[in-house]
Amino acid sequence: MGELATMFAPDRVAVVGATESEGSVGHAITSNLATDYDGEVVPVNPNADSVLGRQCYADVGSVPGTVDVAVVVVPASIAVDVVESCGEAGVENVVVVTAGFSEAGSDGANRERRLHEIADAYDLNVVGPNSLGIMSTGVEMNATFGPENAQPGPVSFMSQSGAFVTAVLDWASDRDVGFKHIVSLGNKAVLDERHFVAEWGDDPGTDVILAYLEGIENGGQFIRTAREVTQDTPILLVKSGRTEAGASAAASHTGTMAGSERAYEAGLEQAGVLRVETVQDLFDYAGILSAQPLPESDGVAIVTNAGGPGVMATDAIGDSDLDLASFTDDTVDSLARALPAEANVYNPIDVIGDADAERFREAIRIALADPNVGATIVLACPTATLRFEDLAETTVTLQATYETPVAASLMGSDSIRAARATLSEAGIPTYFDPARAVRSLDALREFREIQAREYAEPVEFDVERGRARRVLETAKRRDTNSLGVEAMDLLSAYGIPTPAGEIVDGTTEAREAAERVGDGEGVVMKIVSPDIRHKSDIGGVEVGVPPEAVGDTYEDLITRARSYQSDATILGVQVQEMLDLDVATETIVGMNRDPQFGPLVLFGLGGIFVEVLEDTTVKIAPVSEPEAESMVDEIDSAPLLRGARGREPVDEAGVVETIQRLSQLVTEFPAILELDINPLVATPDGVSAVDLRLTIDQEQL
Ligand code: ADP
Ligand code: MG
Repeated sequence: MGELATMFAPDRVAVVGATESEGSVGHAITSNLATDYDGEVVPVNPNADSVLGRQCYADVGSVPGTVDVAVVVVPASIAVDVVESCGEAGVENVVVVTAGFSEAGSDGANRERRLHEIADAYDLNVVGPNSLGIMSTGVEMNATFGPENAQPGPVSFMSQSGAFVTAVLDWASDRDVGFKHIVSLGNKAVLDERHFVAEWGDDPGTDVILAYLEGIENGGQFIRTAREVTQDTPILLVKSGRTEAGASAAASHTGTMAGSERAYEAGLEQAGVLRVETVQDLFDYAGILSAQPLPESDGVAIVTNAGGPGVMATDAIGDSDLDLASFTDDTVDSLARALPAEANVYNPIDVIGDADAERFREAIRIALADPNVGATIVLACPTATLRFEDLAETTVTLQATYETPVAASLMGSDSIRAARATLSEAGIPTYFDPARAVRSLDALREFREIQAREYAEPVEFDVERGRARRVLETAKRRDTNSLGVEAMDLLSAYGIPTPAGEIVDGTTEAREAAERVGDGEGVVMKIVSPDIRHKSDIGGVEVGVPPEAVGDTYEDLITRARSYQSDATILGVQVQEMLDLDVATETIVGMNRDPQFGPLVLFGLGGIFVEVLEDTTVKIAPVSEPEAESMVDEIDSAPLLRGARGREPVDEAGVVETIQRLSQLVTEFPAILELDINPLVATPDGVSAVDLRLTIDQEQL
């Protein structure tokens, strides 16, 4: 294992705050450790000579020999000093069970800050504070104050809620769910999900990592770590509700549409984490991922003795990303020879109600041998002719021979107990509900796709950073956080194409500019004001202005802006080259900053109806080329860009490049808080950013 190896396989654990007093947390932890733990438990408490028959020490420093893990269960007021004494005594790992830190007001938050500083100073691995503790079945260590011990198994589990750990252990106790390591993360003052993901990813005894998280500490780093780990080890995460607070206050389209829930979803997807909705699914998926091989293809064969449940399974396949396998002619012929005339030899295979285990065996064998079958569900209802134990043994043998994933749905209770045990011992999951079997196989498919992903480094474009900085500094000089088309040069500096345009102040200047940027027929004119967010809403954009109308239009635009807001700051009027929108699609490329994941890049169908249509997708920056490509794939209107209804396809490569260049811009300038290019006009010949709006934080420039 990695850097936390001694935390999970300690020779000696000290409980600071150990006590004889029944019902206390200090007592519960000490007695949990005293029960089975392979190593030595050392109680520490200045007010006791012995606890549970073991010699008690006044402080960690006086314990003879090395203490690998110190569990701290003292009052909050002295907890940080105790942790410091652990640091001085050379303890590497400290589990702070004590509560009363950042979850408990400003005093607690200060205490947590100090805890962090001490951890840094002594290079301590600190779990918590406000943690239930840790467990590791390899050394039979239960250093928690929960009532239940974990059974050994290949699943390592971290939880931000301590109560959820005890609930899960209770739930798991009468099911076949075993654990390798368990950590109650608590407030995550020092160690967070990323550290345990990295640690367990390196642990040969951990086949699957489970997590219950309410938030992710450092989204960008988490994505990088999880990506590496999920190349071998699946990470399953239970979704926990998150609010959209803050989204309504956003100043841009992207801000409105790219809320924190979307960032979370995108971040986890990019990290290769499988999200699950229920605790049942969490353990179903963990079970099958740790025991069955991954399917090589998406086709599922169903072998059943009952028509109705066969249909249920088929429907569930329809709801999943799996397919009902279509058999080869050879398979159909072999099934016809092996089964009675009334049987169904197409998928789902119905061996009919009077089938015995032998007939099932033939059908399963033929199904497993079909090259179109990636996974198989053995689905049986109790009948007088079928011995479930025989079916179970047959299934185990065949699965081992063909090495493709198999799940069983045995629709009985008492009658299937022995069969279920046989299957489960061989790692074949059994469920009553066929839909659960389908969902579990679908999780295998999803993980196969995650494993097959090839992550690319983001492209680093040659850009003019200094020029971009100067544009942002202009805003700082004007003491504004809000920028519009006057900042178009920011995009040019990062190689994002923009139409020719000039900002003018006066009718004569406007006419001259129109001659320079226009084609002699018409130009576009826009009011330029940091106080006017959506220009067309107030009549601030005129498209197709002929040369003779440029002067009057200039006056009109100023008048409209004034009547909208008399004291609005008006920087002038932009005279812009007019693009031919007949052959174009208006898209949006934008960015919003998420407190946990950082810059979130958005792409979608743009223009003035962007929030009505809401056809957008998001990714956490930096966005690599394949990720930018998949953003274009992901929107519903992708066919529109690719030439639906006889239209010429737009320059998709240009769109993909713009997404990446914007990603680089917002990654390199943390001062940019929100940004919209709406629209980015995409035509068959290229792309062009005709509008820009951004919000900056002057402090960060
Ligand atoms: P706002 O979003 O503030 O209303 P825009 O600059 O995005 O202002 O302009 C609104 C709409 O006007 C765009 O969505 C586009 O349809 C059209 N438009 C803007 N600039 C041009 C241009 N240079 N050529 C063609 N159409 C344009
Ligand atoms: Mg716009």
